Amino acid sequence: MTHLLLDLPPLSAAHFASIEDRVARLLSTRQDVVIMQGEALLPLEGAIRATAGPGTTALNVITGPYGQTFGDWLRDCGATVIDLTVPFHTAVTAEQVRAAFAEHPEIDFVSLVHAEAATGNTNPVAEIGEVVRAHGALFYLDAVASIGAEPVLPDAWGVDLCVIGAQKAMGGPAGVSAVSVSERAWARMAANPRAPRRSYLSLLDWKERWIDGGRKALLHAPAQLEMLALEACVERIEAAGPAAVMARHASAAAATRAGAVALGGGLEPYVRDAADAAPVATTLRAPSGTVASELVARALAADPALPLAAGGGALAKEMIRVNHYGPEATPGAVRASLAALGAALGEQGLDVDTEGALRAAEAAWR
Ligand SMILES: *Cc1c(COP(=O)(O)O)cnc(C)c1O
Repeated sequence: MTHLLLDLPPLSAAHFASIEDRVARLLSTRQDVVIMQGEALLPLEGAIRATAGPGTTALNVITGPYGQTFGDWLRDCGATVIDLTVPFHTAVTAEQVRAAFAEHPEIDFVSLVHAEAATGNTNPVAEIGEVVRAHGALFYLDAVASIGAEPVLPDAWGVDLCVIGAQKAMGGPAGVSAVSVSERAWARMAANPRAPRRSYLSLLDWKERWIDGGRKALLHAPAQLEMLALEACVERIEAAGPAAVMARHASAAAATRAGAVALGGGLEPYVRDAADAAPVATTLRAPSGTVASELVARALAADPALPLAAGGGALAKEMIRVNHYGPEATPGAVRASLAALGAALGEQGLDVDTEGALRAAEAAWR
C-alpha cells in the first residue's frame, strides 16, 4: 500500500535553501534566515543562549507567559535581567521601553514578544525598535503568533533576531521554525564563548557549516515532512496574498470582540483597548461569578472542534481564548464560537443576546 506521508526521498540542500529564501521573502528581510528542525522554542532558546552571557544586561519585556521563559533563559546564561512587566490586559509602550533605558543605560539586549496568542495582546514593535536602535542594543523578537496575522518586518524595525513558527496564523506545521539573524547578532554570537557550538541549539553551527559554505551541505538529515509542509503553507500565503491573510485575521479579531461585547451577560474583551488586541487570537474575561475553564468545557462539550481554550495556569478561571487563527480565521468559526459561548452563559442563567452578538460580529467583519 502506498502512503502520502511515507517513503519520501530526502530533501536536497538546494530545496532546503529555497524554502529558507521563501521564508525570507515572507519576512521582507535581507538578513540570513535559518530554518531550525524543531518547534519555535528551539530557535527562541538557541538565539538567547547564543547572544546573552554574563556581560549582558537584558531588558526583558513581559506581556504574557513567554516573556517569563525568556527571562529564565537569560538569567541561566548569566545575564543581568531587568524585567519590564505590563498587565496582560494591555500592551507595552515605546515610552516604557525608553524609560527603562533612561534608568539602565547599560541595557544591551531587549527581548520582546510581538503578539501573544496566550493573552491576546500585541506590542508596537516598530516604535519600540526605534528606541532599541537609538541605544544600540540587540533586539530579539518572538513573532511566532504574529507572523501571518499582522506585518512582521525585521529589517524595517531593526530586529536582530526574529523568530517565527508556522503553527499559528500560517496554518502550518509546528515541528519546524525559523529565525532571521542580523550581522550584528552573528558578531555577538561569534564573540560569545558560551554560545552553543556543536549542539542542536546552535545557530553558529548553521552559520559556519551551512551559510558560510554557500548552503551546499546540510548539517543533518532535514525533517522533510515538516519542510514540505512549511513550503506549502508559505506558498498558500503567497497565492492568497499576505495582505488578504492578515485581513482575515484582523476581521476575525474585530468580529469576535464586537460579538462578545454585544453578547452581554458580563462577558468583556480581556484586552481593554482594541488597539492593543492581537489579530491572531481574542481573549475574553469571563463574567464575575463564572469560571472561564468551565464555560469553555461546556462549549467544547457541545462542539469539540471550536477554537476555544481557557487561559493557561492562573488565568484559567478568568480568561477565555478564541484562537481564530490559521484555518479558524473565518466568519463561521467566529460565529460558532460566539453562539457556543452564548449558550454556555445562558445555561448559567446569564442574560445574553446571541442573535445580537452574531449581527455585531457580521457587521464588524471588515
Ligand atoms: C505559540 C507561541 C509560541 C510557540 O510555543 P508553543 O507553546 O509550543 O506553542 C511561542 N511564542 C509565542 C508568542 C506563541 O504564541
